[in-house]
This record gives sequence, C-alpha cells and structure tokens, in this order.
Amino acid sequence: MDFLNITLTGWAAIIVALSMAILAALMFILGKERAHYVWGIFSVAVAVWAWAFYAVTLADNPETAKFWWKISFAGLILNPFIFFHFVLEFINDARIDRIKSFIIVPLYVVAGVFLIIDLTTNLIIDEVTLLFDEIYYNAPPGALHPYFMMIFVGLVFYAHYLVYREYRKRRSDRLFRQRVGYFFLATFIAYVGGSMNFLPVYGIEVPPITSIAVAVGSGIIAYAILRHRLFDARVVTAQLLTLVLAGLTLFRLIVSGSAQEMVLNGVLLIITLIIGIYLILSVRKEVERREQVEVLAKDLQTANEKLKELDDLKTDFISIASHQLRTPLTAIKGYSSMILEGTYGESPLKIKGAVDKIFQSAQRLIYIVNDLLDVSRIEQGRFSITPEEVKVANVLRDVTEELKPNAAAKNIDLSFETSTDDAEIKMSADFNKIRQVFTNLVDNSVKYTNTGYVKVMLGLKDGNALVSVKDSGIGISPTTMQNLFQKFSRAKGVSKLHTDGSGLGLYVAREIVAAHGGKVWAESEGVGKGSQFYVSLPIKNPNVEEIEQFVSGM
Ligand code: ADP
Repeated sequence: MDFLNITLTGWAAIIVALSMAILAALMFILGKERAHYVWGIFSVAVAVWAWAFYAVTLADNPETAKFWWKISFAGLILNPFIFFHFVLEFINDARIDRIKSFIIVPLYVVAGVFLIIDLTTNLIIDEVTLLFDEIYYNAPPGALHPYFMMIFVGLVFYAHYLVYREYRKRRSDRLFRQRVGYFFLATFIAYVGGSMNFLPVYGIEVPPITSIAVAVGSGIIAYAILRHRLFDARVVTAQLLTLVLAGLTLFRLIVSGSAQEMVLNGVLLIITLIIGIYLILSVRKEVERREQVEVLAKDLQTANEKLKELDDLKTDFISIASHQLRTPLTAIKGYSSMILEGTYGESPLKIKGAVDKIFQSAQRLIYIVNDLLDVSRIEQGRFSITPEEVKVANVLRDVTEELKPNAAAKNIDLSFETSTDDAEIKMSADFNKIRQVFTNLVDNSVKYTNTGYVKVMLGLKDGNALVSVKDSGIGISPTTMQNLFQKFSRAKGVSKLHTDGSGLGLYVAREIVAAHGGKVWAESEGVGKGSQFYVSLPIKNPNVEEIEQFVSGM
C-alpha cells in the first residue's frame, strides 16, 4: 500500500501539513484584520503538528518517534489556546475587547507551561508502542495527557458557546451570521476528524488518517473570513508575476555574454519593471474601488433598514393619531347635527348655515381620518374583509341616492342605470367596504365635475360584475393618470379647487377591490374631457353555492 515508502497515514499527514502551510501563507498575505493573522498562526501550529506526525510515521525506532511526538504535541498544545484567541477576535465584541488582553496573556502563559512540560519531561508523551504494524504511537499516554485533553475540549467548547451567544445577539448582522454558519460546519468537520487521532492513544485502534478533515475544516474557516478579500489575491498574483519576470531578466542580465546582450537585457529589465509596476498599480486601484463600492453597499443597507424602521414608526403614528382624532370629530358631528335638528331649540337661520358648514366639514374630516386609518391598516397587514352576500345594484342605488343632494347643489345630473337582469347580480363582499369604494368614486365624479352629468352603470362582462362611473368633468391628464391610484396622489392644481381632498380615496379603493379579487381602473381622453372609472368584481356563482349546499347536506 505504501507509495514512495510513505504510508497512507504519512500521506494524510503530509497533505495536512502542506495545505496548512499554504493556508497560513495566504492568511498572512491576504489578511487585514487581527482575526486573519491569528488564524494564520493557528494554521502554522496545525502544520507543525501534522509535519512532526509525518516524521513519526517515518521513525524506525522508539526514540526518534518519541522525539517527533513531543514536537507534534507542541503544535497540538497551542491549538485550543490559539483557537480560543481566534474566537475572541472573530466575534469582535466591544465588551470582550476591553478585557481581551487580560484573557489572552494568561491563556498563552498556561500554553507555555504545557509546552515546557511537553518538551522537557515525560509527563505528556511517555511511552511509544508499535501500532498498525507501522507507527510508534504515543500509547499509553503520559500522566498529564488526559488533563491536557480535558483543557483542550473545555476551551474548544467554551469558544463555541461564545460564538453561539454572539450569533443570537446579532440578529441583523447577515455577514456575521453567515460566517458563523461556516464556522460551525468547519469546526465540526475539523475537530471530529482530528480527534480520531487520539483514539489509538487510549487503546482504540483506528488508523489516524481522518486528520485530513482538519485541513478541510481550516480551509472552510479561512474561506469564510477571507471571502470578501479574495479579489486581493489578484494584486498578489500581479506582484508575483512581475517578480518572476524581473528575476528572470535580471538573471539574463547577469549572465549576458557580450556588451550588446547586456544592453538589450538591461532595456528588457527596465521595460519589465515599468509594465509590472503599472500592472500592480492598476490592479490595486481596481481593488480599492471595489472595496469602496462594498462599503457604500453596506451603508446603503443600513440606511435602508433605518428607513424601514422610520416607515413602520410613521404607520404606527398615523394609526394612533387617527384613532385619537376620531372621537372629538364624532362629537363635533353629533352635536352640530343635534343643533341642526333643533334638539336645543330653534336657532336663527344664520347660525344654522354656519353649523351646517361645521357638520359638513366634520363629515369630510371623518372620511379622511377613516382613509388614513385604512392606509395604516393596509401597511400593517391588518386590513381584512368580512364577506357577506351583497346585491351590487342595491349598494349603487343607495350610494347615488345619498350623493344626489351634493350633485343637485351643483346642478349635475346624477343617475344610476342597469338592466333588470343585471340588477340581480350578487357577490360575496364586505358590505361597508364595497360601499366605501362606490361612494368614493361617485363622490369624486361629483366633486370634479362642474356641469353636466355623472352616470353610474352596472352590467356583466366576462363573467364579472362591471360597475362604471362616467362623468363630464375636468378629466384626467396622462401624467396624473400614471399615479392615480397611488397614496397621496392628487392632480396638479386640484388642491386649489378642492382643498379637503387627501389623495387617499383611490388608493384605499384599489386595495379594497383587490382584497375582493377584483380590479379598478380609469379612462379619460384628457383634461376637460370627462373621466370614466371602472370596477370589475367577481360575482357569486349560484351554481357553486348550490353544489356546496348539496354537498354539506349529504
Ligand atoms: P381626493 O379626491 O381626496 O384628492 P382620491 O384618491 O379620491 O383623493 O383622488 C385622487 C385624485 O384623482 C384627485 O385628487 C383628482 O386629481 C383625481 N380624480 C379622482 N377622480 C376624478 C374624476 N372623476 N375626475 C377627475 N379627476 C379625478
């Protein structure tokens, strides 16, 4: 099974040692934060552990094996302490930062004590026994070996607990949470794989080749913490390329045979250096630019989150304010209505006129406050409908009757038309809300028409109830049309004509119609050419209902 006289265990150790050495180099070259460098040192320690273990597999006598075991264990002793240090840097918590040096110094003092014990006494590595017919294994363990293992496991577990605690705390830090995901995956693979190496020490004879997992796990962590810096690798490549090319031309310059060749090689070296430096500078510039973009993107994300919070706050504010406004408004409306009805005795005509204005204004304000409340309900996702069977024609007749006085006051002809068949159209709807939609549309048409008519019609189209409200009013310009159903959208100049509008009615209407599975839209040939609003709503299919009743009766 041996290849080049190296056992399988030996190959596993070489692979780990080499990949950890490369990883360490990468961490130092590409690293920027302290966590990166600490992980680099960690990788060096693992590389020492694996390399000395490879030497153990080559040893042909107990003494040499014991020597290399001690070196290998030196790398291992450092492992949990550097790992703990890494975790402190990784979670980068301000509170821990302040006391970090008080933790790290004693941590390494303890590690140093264990190192000295390992290298100078037989308390950890004691005897070696030939196992698997090929390796002098450090079994049975030295007297302190189990105690060190306990510290090892304790430190690694405690470090994981710290990471987990931080993970729970930083709910909105997506980057950190992602890294923690990689972290747990990696340490699980590495420590489970690596710990198999200790089984033979305690008499469980599993060949120690799973140590490969240590390299895999460490690589995953390196990737997780360096991921966002990987494009720096391009700078390093450019530097290396320049260095190699310059080195080659310098070599040629030194070994030049003739003066002519020397000049040629000298010029070549200068050109290589100029191009190389230009290459490095331009790559570095691009990397910097990308880093800036990343910072900007992060800023934008935080700004977005803040805006969302503010938006929620605004919705809550509107909701609370509207609730508070409604009570006094209802009182104003109620009392003015009682004055008008003569509950407090007959009042002079002049006062009646004024109170009537108060009554109308309070009514308008209540509409607006209700619209605001609806908007905040829609935004908080609390907007719901309670459906019942509704005869659409009845609602429309009702609404037109109610708004007739307003139309009459402006000399506008307000009418409702439908055929006898269509008057029977029924739908499953929230009565009050669907009434609110029609009231808003007809009220708008009356409001935005100066002379002429407002026609309300009901018919069937494509199996849906189609309500249309047509007027001969001020019409809608194409620009207004684009945002007609948006929140707070009002046509230019309209606020001068009608000061009491909020631009919320159509928005709420669209939401209500959508909640019923329908559609609302508008058409107008332009300013001054009247407008037509349509509402299409699914009707209640009597057949389906009959079948349902039939089935439930079975
Ligand atoms: P409000 O009427 O309170 O301003 P709406 O959301 O009901 O709010 O209407 C939004 C805007 O749509 C109005 O301000 C007006 O510019 C325009 N509009 C609505 N209905 C009509 C109509 N029938 N004719 C012309 N413009 C209209």
